[in-house]
Amino acid sequence: MKAVRFHEYGGPEVLKYEDAPEPKIRATDILVKVKACALNHLDVWLRTGVPGWELQMPHIAGSDISGEVAEVGSLVTRVRPGDRVLLSPGISCGQCEMCFHGLDSACRQYTLFGVFVDGGYAQYVRSPEMNVMPIPGDLSFDEAAAVPLVFLTAWHMLFARAGLKPGEEVLVIGAGSGVGSAAIQVAKLMNARVIATAGADWKLEKARALGADEVINHTQQSIAEEVKRLTHKRGVDVVVDHVGAAVWEACFDSLATYGRLVTCGMTTGADLKLNGQALFGRQRTILGSFMGGKGELADVLKLVAQRKLKAVVDSVSPLQEAAVAQRKMEGRELFGKILLHP
Ligand SMILES: [Zn+2]
Repeated sequence: MKAVRFHEYGGPEVLKYEDAPEPKIRATDILVKVKACALNHLDVWLRTGVPGWELQMPHIAGSDISGEVAEVGSLVTRVRPGDRVLLSPGISCGQCEMCFHGLDSACRQYTLFGVFVDGGYAQYVRSPEMNVMPIPGDLSFDEAAAVPLVFLTAWHMLFARAGLKPGEEVLVIGAGSGVGSAAIQVAKLMNARVIATAGADWKLEKARALGADEVINHTQQSIAEEVKRLTHKRGVDVVVDHVGAAVWEACFDSLATYGRLVTCGMTTGADLKLNGQALFGRQRTILGSFMGGKGELADVLKLVAQRKLKAVVDSVSPLQEAAVAQRKMEGRELFGKILLHP
């Protein structure tokens, strides 16, 4: 089969479109013919190297995958060749205490497609049956690949971690990112008042179209000052961040008393300064969040099928152009998900 692999860590130029062996399935696996695979920032981290993570080389990235079942193992009962499916991006053991509680991403064996198992930058991918979900409703393959990782992340951040309540005020950092564009929509399900930030006016317009009530252009305005103005000095109940160092203080200063800051990533760095006095004095909470459980993804998919949550697709490229697509993501010239078609 054809795949995009890298044999060493480095810039986008290490991504090679080449022949790779077709995956062999075990009795409880299925083989999926990939129709679409969405990019995530994780793909860039993997390519440049994550401290402490030793990837098998050559490596196939890609965590968000939709496709058609090509072949099933002898013990597979739930799907048949030809079925339209998407893959739940997180792989967990299914039989530890955390998994029993539905806390897949707290499983000690947790990994994702494209991290310690081969991902979707390929014509075929192997998946455990447990990770296969039927594509709901009349969703296209592109929509089905654009949803899982970012909506699951936003859902877990806002509900499981931050405990969002109806009508609260939410600041979403980076509306143009996958997580940002998902978080705006998830927060609006709870009739939250959403303030979204982005670095370009065209992105802010799109954020408004997704439901953001207020927008802040962070290249021209101070996030903390604007939040103060928009909330009559109160601050917001919840901040959704995935950017880290560059906006950390602005995020923290934007919190109301009893506010919760939830973060799922640190794309600009993880060295943070904390105003401890404001943390206890204003009874604020800082929450880490990482992916979520299959049950949460099932909840998300119901709402996507009902068109209450919408996949946000920036663009589609052929798999051969994975390097160009990753460069585009690194340049932040996007709104929503970039998809690859093998
Ligand atoms: Zn487990």
